[in-house]
Amino acid sequence: MAVKQFKAESKRLLDLMIHSIYTHREIFLRELISNASDAIDKLYYQSLGEGNTGLNRDDFRIDIKLDKEARVLTLSDNGCGMSREDLEKDLGTIAKSGSLAFKKENEPKEEIDIIGQFGVGFYSAFMVSELVTVRSRVFGADEAWEWKSKGAEGYTIEPCEKETNGTDIVLKIKENTDEDNYDEFLEPYRIQELVQRYSDYIRYPIKMDMERS
Ligand code: ADP
Ligand code: MG
Repeated sequence: MAVKQFKAESKRLLDLMIHSIYTHREIFLRELISNASDAIDKLYYQSLGEGNTGLNRDDFRIDIKLDKEARVLTLSDNGCGMSREDLEKDLGTIAKSGSLAFKKENEPKEEIDIIGQFGVGFYSAFMVSELVTVRSRVFGADEAWEWKSKGAEGYTIEPCEKETNGTDIVLKIKENTDEDNYDEFLEPYRIQELVQRYSDYIRYPIKMDMERS
């Protein structure tokens, strides 16, 4: 299976995220929730516009699953989903908000401030994850695709099984080191607290399910 490389500008942000010089790593959850919400909005408005999806507002939801033993946090939405091309284009490219800021500033210290001010987007998942797997299926499509990356070395895309439309973001949470502790991102109470903090403006229910915790 071919390993594809990230674009140069994406790699720069990715490197920052992987080495997680930024202390507020928990913002990854804000970014993933907001992406899930955007994806649902997209499908919801599509259903209003075309009127043929048969979906209602209360069909939409965001789910979070924790598997402490496996060190896996999964965030799922039943939004628009991504095609193979979308995965390639959208996840291979730096967040629009982030890219704008990064073009203006070059000093490392300023980069840190930028992360706090602007959304850094999907790549923030790499601040807490050693492996990020995205499984996605576009509403109405009969195929699903899996995007996988450990970060710097690039990513792979291959077909996968997924019964329903939308996207699962599967994070293999980093092991603790002498300096850094990542266990908090597998703790239900901590995640619940973060969800509450970041879900103020989210108009869809966010449900949490705990496995083997
Ligand atoms: P931004 O949200 O600022 O566009 P991100 O880095 O957060 O930047 O996300 C990049 C793109 O990846 C999004 O614009 C969207 O097209 C796609 N994307 C990310 N997460 C999802 C998701 N859960 N469902 C559908 N598309 C997604
Ligand atoms: Mg985003």
